[in-house]
Amino acid sequence: MRRSSFDQMARSSWMRRFAQSLFLVLLSLLVSSHSVMAADKTNVLPNPGFEDGKSGWSIGEGDSDVLAESARTGKMGLRITNDRTKPRGSNATSASIPVTPGKPVTVSFWARTANTGAAVYVMYAGENGKGYVKDPAIKNGYPMLTLNKSGTEWKQYTKVVTPPDKARTLKLWVHTWSTAMIDADLDDFEITGLPADTKPILPNAYVAKPKPKPIDFDNIPKREKPLAIVIKLDDLKMHRKTQHPRWTRVVDYLNSKGVKGTMGMLANSLENPTPEYIQWVKKQHESGNWEIWFHGWDHATHVADDGKKYNEFNHRTFEEQKARLDKSQKLCYEHLGFHFTSFGPPGGVGNGSQDANTHRMMIEDPYMTAWIYPQPMDKIGKETMEKSNNKIIILDRVWSVGIEASVGRPHFERFVRGYLKYPDRDYFTLQGHPVMWDDYSFEQFTKIVEFLIDQGATFVLPSAYAQTLKEKHASAQ
Ligand SMILES: [Zn+2]
Repeated sequence: MRRSSFDQMARSSWMRRFAQSLFLVLLSLLVSSHSVMAADKTNVLPNPGFEDGKSGWSIGEGDSDVLAESARTGKMGLRITNDRTKPRGSNATSASIPVTPGKPVTVSFWARTANTGAAVYVMYAGENGKGYVKDPAIKNGYPMLTLNKSGTEWKQYTKVVTPPDKARTLKLWVHTWSTAMIDADLDDFEITGLPADTKPILPNAYVAKPKPKPIDFDNIPKREKPLAIVIKLDDLKMHRKTQHPRWTRVVDYLNSKGVKGTMGMLANSLENPTPEYIQWVKKQHESGNWEIWFHGWDHATHVADDGKKYNEFNHRTFEEQKARLDKSQKLCYEHLGFHFTSFGPPGGVGNGSQDANTHRMMIEDPYMTAWIYPQPMDKIGKETMEKSNNKIIILDRVWSVGIEASVGRPHFERFVRGYLKYPDRDYFTLQGHPVMWDDYSFEQFTKIVEFLIDQGATFVLPSAYAQTLKEKHASAQ
């Protein structure tokens, strides 16, 4: 009895202990599976549906906004927008979320848009959201969810991303391209797969730059001095068997306005030209309203000995540069019956379009008289004019006065704002790339031309205008 009661006690206490530990095991299983589920499902992004307005995000650049009409659920949603006039696009950036390299994270959101031209990027950064960390396994370094056209239908986008080695945080960057024509709504963002106690790092709220005052078009001050304009249109070459239709459009337009213009030709387009192309170019040249100038042999960048990429007339020997010009002059004379008298070097990469050898090439070429400079005047440019005894006249650039706000994107208002800042300038060379101009861009260009006509500007050809300046210089001395 004692024994059995002892046994019973022993057994019952063993059973109790067994039951207790079983309970603990089950409990811990339950808790841990619960915490795994919590890690998977908890949306760690603050203000993911914009119900708290812009809080937890940086919103406002390029007119991004939180609007009621952009809501999918709840009361508010995100709107990003562009009318092709925003060089930096329209942007919104989320809080930075701490991550562990190699541990997958799921990003998802809903969007609707009638047009393409926007994406959500998953941007990796270091500690506290600082710096940028690229994923070497991804083409542009960051995972990207491109918005597809869905009209008024909301569409869900989901991507599982794996933070690379050096990533300590990730954030979402909602962005429209600078060239987009788009109004996109986004809502109900989720970042999951992280511990429920993940602590987001909030971004600074976006501070808008003060908007410029609207231009008072009725009261544009009259210029005291006459103004000369060189319309510098780049990249003429053969397209199929003749010139690109966008060249035809811009040339026909300027001809209809009685306005002089210029075309920068790639001389390798004269290697095997069709009669149609030659006839069209010749016709413009012979009208006296157009100057065809030398814009390089092939416009191609090259890799120099230092392993870096350079533009056609940068980091090449004098002999190489001269050879490119010489063969171009020869073909120009053969096919078009004249030699190039103006030069505007081609670009491509941002480390300069010309060097000291180009200056020597210009001074020594027997035909060249005008250099449509790709930049404001510099020391070597002044020296070149002096050294050549004004054989070479440089027509320099004013950065803020141009047809295009970014390459290929004419912008009427930007032009006028720049123009008003230089009331004393004698001339402007205005650069454009007609083949890049869609209907909208072309219309912006026509507004600029018509504004300049209203302003009483004289449209000039670079060689002829260089001659005028040369005479001015001579009489001043
Ligand atoms: Zn060009």
